[in-house]
Amino acid sequence: MTTALARLEGLEVFYGASQALFGVDLEIGPGQAVALLGRNGMGKTTTIRTLCRMQPLYRGKVWFDGRDITALPSFRAARLGIGLVPEGRRCFASLTVTENLIAAARPGPWTLARVQDFFPRLAERADQTAATLSGGEQQMLAIGRALMTNPRLLVLDEATEGLAPVIRREIWTAIGELKRAGLSLLVVDKTLSELLPLADSCVILERGQSVWHGTPTDLSPEVEQRYLGL
Ligand code: ATP
Repeated sequence: MTTALARLEGLEVFYGASQALFGVDLEIGPGQAVALLGRNGMGKTTTIRTLCRMQPLYRGKVWFDGRDITALPSFRAARLGIGLVPEGRRCFASLTVTENLIAAARPGPWTLARVQDFFPRLAERADQTAATLSGGEQQMLAIGRALMTNPRLLVLDEATEGLAPVIRREIWTAIGELKRAGLSLLVVDKTLSELLPLADSCVILERGQSVWHGTPTDLSPEVEQRYLGL
């Protein structure tokens, strides 16, 4: 029996007739941060969407907390404790910051007050609509929304993409604090210099397959060059 909090086994996924995942295996232990790496189009977002049960599977299994959740719809997976910060942020543009946060709320230690304390900017902007926020503030709101669901696993898909360096730093600091607070993380991000120091392990995807598993210190220049084009 596994001690993993989340486990993906042999994922195969199609978009119509086109196969996107050809066998993805991945495991996230409690309190662990896993970096999901790979060049553009290799299947990172598809893997994340499959874990969150937003994407139908052709073959494979998704486990969470010792339970087979392959057949569950995404809202049930979210309820079990998988919180997603999706690529592109996706907040409700016409709702205020606080309305966005409250709409996501589920019982647990992450309350509106705690999220506002964690990201003071969200308290300062409480009554503004999400549409009027800067990119960095929208990203904080997207993370805040996911925290309001009181997840046990937080999944971040390109959380720092397109942000100014100073805001990016703030987001990485926040992610580091969440890790230290014991939250399990699955993170996709292009900024390896920030991501790798935070990661306990890495999984590299190449053409829809997990082709390399290891710790950040195992990532040799050859592996980086071969799979990440660095
Ligand atoms: P990126 O870093 O560019 O976001 P990624 O590693 O997250 O890439 P995915 O977005 O998961 O990769 O894409 C994996 C493959 O599936 C790609 O070949 C992509 O073109 C294809 N794909 C993704 N979404 C769809 C879709 N909705 N319909 C058809 N094909 C898709």
